[in-house]
Amino acid sequence: MRKPERRLGLALQRGLRGRCAACGKGRLLRSYLTPNAECSECGEDLSRYQAADFAPYIVTFLVGLVFTPLALVLTANGASDFTLPIVLLAAVVSAVLLLPPIKGAALALLWAVNETN
Ligand SMILES: [Zn+2]
Repeated sequence: MRKPERRLGLALQRGLRGRCAACGKGRLLRSYLTPNAECSECGEDLSRYQAADFAPYIVTFLVGLVFTPLALVLTANGASDFTLPIVLLAAVVSAVLLLPPIKGAALALLWAVNETN
């Protein structure tokens, strides 16, 4: 079988959608954040790529980048007592929703540059 070309942009798109970076069909994660050892469609060995804590770092950065200034502005402008807890809840929900696609993108990035542990 011919080896797939490792194009970074395409791999990141597939990873963000939770699909195998090599074929774009098989699922990258089998549960919330657990990567599959190999692609069910093309058989690509995905166990070679370990993203470790990269995805949580990126998610923390993104969520902090959006919600910290928002919370500061709302607090400085005298928002109601319920505004800040709602913003914090939105930040937590955003982090939970962002983690799987960012983890997929991190694994796809490692696949694209063929970085193994
Ligand atoms: Zn695949």
